[in-house]
Amino acid sequence: DLNRFKEVNDSFGHPAGDELLRQLGARLKKSLRSSDLVVRLGGDEFAVALVGADADRAEMVAARLIAAIEEPFLIDSVTARLSASIGIALVPDDAVDAAGIMACADLAMYRAKISGQPYAVYREDLDGGHGLPLVDELRGAIERCELELHYQPQLDLVSGEIVAVEALVRWPHARLGLVAPLEFLPLAEEAGLMGPLTAVVLDQALAQCAQWRGAGRRVTVSVNVSTTNLVDPGFPDEVARALDRHGLEAAALVLEITETTAIADFDRTNAAIEALRRLGLVVSVDDFGAGFTSLTYLSSLPVGELKLDRSFIVGLTSANGGRNLALVRATIALAHTLGLRVVAEGVEDKASLHMLTSLGCDLAQGYLISRPKPAAELAFDAPPMSGTSASRHARARVRSVFLAPRPQLGIER
Ligand code: C2E
Ligand code: CA
Ligand code: CA
Repeated sequence: DLNRFKEVNDSFGHPAGDELLRQLGARLKKSLRSSDLVVRLGGDEFAVALVGADADRAEMVAARLIAAIEEPFLIDSVTARLSASIGIALVPDDAVDAAGIMACADLAMYRAKISGQPYAVYREDLDGGHGLPLVDELRGAIERCELELHYQPQLDLVSGEIVAVEALVRWPHARLGLVAPLEFLPLAEEAGLMGPLTAVVLDQALAQCAQWRGAGRRVTVSVNVSTTNLVDPGFPDEVARALDRHGLEAAALVLEITETTAIADFDRTNAAIEALRRLGLVVSVDDFGAGFTSLTYLSSLPVGELKLDRSFIVGLTSANGGRNLALVRATIALAHTLGLRVVAEGVEDKASLHMLTSLGCDLAQGYLISRPKPAAELAFDAPPMSGTSASRHARARVRSVFLAPRPQLGIER
């Protein structure tokens, strides 16, 4: 199963995706013997049959296939990078029929994904047999509300206070440990579990937010939602009910959608965002800049916040960061004229934080301020910022140059 293929398709278009698959086919063939079989099962899933091989050889070939897939692809002078997850199952040890062997390979593949390994060999005790298939374990964890949320604070660059937190889901798993979202969200998506997963996350995040607010901390909570949630016609009502249940005003919640979600299915997404905005909450465009959405295009969506992708922030202040700096400056200025609040993600060093402050960025999030942590361990005291008054001055100047009066965006200052 390829990772990130969907992003290539969404960002570069389907002809580019097709071209990539053609190049990939040739690479896979080159990594195999002529007696081996390689087929495309559909989408971004492939199967390889090795005749007369044992587990050792299968693992060796898997490693070789991964290496071939991870070599950058050049498509129309654009470089795309992929990775893949491989599941290995053996005939006749694991199963003797096609459906059975495919099911075993699939389970091993998901275990590889979830444990962050490039490949895994099917093991009855881990993937099936006495235990449950992973997807059933995940379904159970969602139903029993066993998913955990970590929260990462966002620093207001004007007031120097923590005014918001982003909720980030984790799956505590008995054998695999604390599983990261990027490892199990694809499984949830594929198994149709995104609806219930988001419902559980939303409920837990709002409960926590209500508790903070009850204790006098006026903080906003951001929750990530997937395309599947957004195109579900019942979703806005579900959000409204969740807010009600916790006695929270809509302004207490921000919903983050990724840039690719925002452009995937414009009509449906647009209607959903509008419905959410009417509830009074801010919809945020996550990972902005990672894809290829133009700001002009974005201006037609009723969103209230833009999160600058981490890739823009890295090297912002380094010698060769000039290009990023220009992009960040222009993006902030444009976002502000469109009435959008700007959050910088992945801020890891003080120099970047000060740069962002002087560029007029509104909020910052990143390891410098805090790693995501369980609510109980979160510190709301912002780290001391040296040179704040100078930055504030710079910021005021930037504002006066670029900013028209801005609409109320629902963030409490
Ligand atoms: P994201 O929404 O872009 O979240 C930010 C990710 O960047 C988090 O990874 C966070 O731990 C990491 N990060 C924060 N600050 C820094 C930094 O300074 N440097 C670096 N290198 N990384 C930083 P995490 O928690 O692994 O989440 C990964 C992604 O999973 C999230 O990316 C989001 O897209 C998705 N996700 C997380 N929770 C949920 C959820 O409840 N629902 C949905 N649909 N998606 C979620
Ligand atoms: Ca996010
Ligand atoms: Ca992000």
